Amino acid sequence: MYNQLKSIARNLLPTAFLKANEERFRRLVALRYAGSTYRCNVCGTGLSTFVRLERGDLLCPRCGSLPRGRRLWHVLSEEMEVRGLKVLHFSPSASVAGKLREYPLAEYVTTDFEGEFTADKSYDITAIDEPDGRFDLIICYHVLEHIPDDAAAMQELHRVLAPGGLCLIQTPFREGDIYEDASIATAADRLAAFGQEDHVRVYSVAGLTDRLRKAGFRVAGITYPPNHLHGWRGGETVLYAEKK
Ligand SMILES: [Zn+2]
Repeated sequence: MYNQLKSIARNLLPTAFLKANEERFRRLVALRYAGSTYRCNVCGTGLSTFVRLERGDLLCPRCGSLPRGRRLWHVLSEEMEVRGLKVLHFSPSASVAGKLREYPLAEYVTTDFEGEFTADKSYDITAIDEPDGRFDLIICYHVLEHIPDDAAAMQELHRVLAPGGLCLIQTPFREGDIYEDASIATAADRLAAFGQEDHVRVYSVAGLTDRLRKAGFRVAGITYPPNHLHGWRGGETVLYAEKK
């Protein structure tokens, strides 16, 4: 239903119009899904159902949040005290970025190198154009699996964090060891090997933890249980990497 509505709208209406009216369009779509069985904890909307995407992820039709974004928002708003912090957010989802822009942070800087997400900056994560110790919190979700020189990226994340600062990191994970092979370089081959055309590896939790430790971080991984009400996936892992 959601995809049908979206494709009908896409076919009928010019993109600029859709962008300008996205909020109105989402509100209309969300009416169709209104209910009380589920609740998106990002936008607070009650839903009869989430929208199930191709890979099984549950999307909120109102704000567009995915399970990992809803979990992230829960962590930031319920489990951590982020008020007053200087925050750097890589490739931010619109739903979580919207909430953080309203939050009483000391500073909120968004960055996206590829220009896929609406962001303030376009930093190269392997050479971040910011001074040492600039941020208290960095959110780096689903970025490192795109970066060939991930050791340089981790060093940079560590460098721009203040001592005691925290970097929240997530990527797709596999069991066992990290799977990477620099000779796999075409989009089609990367899709087949790593699950997405622009991914250069698949981490394991242990493998990424090890690399982050080598970059100087103290690392704890938390794997969360599912939550029916909020449409959170079970088995989702977030790495909390702290600058000692
Ligand atoms: Zn929502």
